Amino acid sequence: MPSADATLPDLALSRSAIDRRGDLRADPRLLARLLADPDTRVLRLVGDRVEVSDAGGGPAVVLGPPVPADAARLALYLGESGGHAVVGVVADDRADAVTDDPAWRTLRSVGADLDDLGAQAFATTLALANWHRTHGHCPRCGAATEPALAGWIRRCPADATDHYPRTDMAVIMTVVDADDRILLARGKGFRGNGMSVLAGFVEPGETLAAAVAREVAEEVGVEVTDVTYLADQPWPFPSSLMLGFTARALGTALHLQAEEIEAARWFSRDELAAALADGSVVVSGRISISRRIIEHWYGGPLDSPEIPLR
Ligand SMILES: [Zn+2]
Repeated sequence: MPSADATLPDLALSRSAIDRRGDLRADPRLLARLLADPDTRVLRLVGDRVEVSDAGGGPAVVLGPPVPADAARLALYLGESGGHAVVGVVADDRADAVTDDPAWRTLRSVGADLDDLGAQAFATTLALANWHRTHGHCPRCGAATEPALAGWIRRCPADATDHYPRTDMAVIMTVVDADDRILLARGKGFRGNGMSVLAGFVEPGETLAAAVAREVAEEVGVEVTDVTYLADQPWPFPSSLMLGFTARALGTALHLQAEEIEAARWFSRDELAAALADGSVVVSGRISISRRIIEHWYGGPLDSPEIPLR
């Protein structure tokens, strides 16, 4: 099914094909039963990779039946799709076997080309697995916690507290001036000629619009108004939700934050097209909301090569 958002439909990681069936998670025998059922579709995550097959023409996540070893692995009930239960299994014990196998791909490299079910199952399993891997102890008492609710929380056996997976909100925004030019910046650590729109994490006690205005002011010294929501998508690297906005600049003078921003400039549509054509500017790939909100301003797809990622 398409994205519910009409402004930027079909963002790579916003697609939905799974009925999450949260009502089934409380059954403590659910995962054991599903991992004994050959009709269950298992997505097996090893590190940050899953097995991808090109047998059907385009890349597709391998969603196969459970194997006996899955019973001892961290398992996550993702929901139902097409009459099958879908379970994410974290199989890091297989890391040595997949390190050099090109069939095992990262979400960044393949996510934009997967079908809706594959993209959603991969993104959800990766986000949950990233949280489980780094939140193994109770923040109140330090005891080792255990997965519960079919992988959707961790529970402390010492003080019976429940701990929920975190999602870190980040705003990402096009900033457009009075001449309808867009602001692109190169952050420290960007590779090659990469440039992007500005982005940053939302802070406690802050609204989304305030976060947009603060980040733009901090990074390039520009005051903005008319902050308008465009679209959002999960970004499980490791645990973000990217919230896309556009905002109107009240001035064009740039004062770059030296520790974070290496370069920034305004582009007309013709200037950006020329810079992409001669390679002096490269923008991120189709999986990113960054590219999609730039294209929203541009008025159509950008003719820019994809940086190859494994
Ligand atoms: Zn505790």
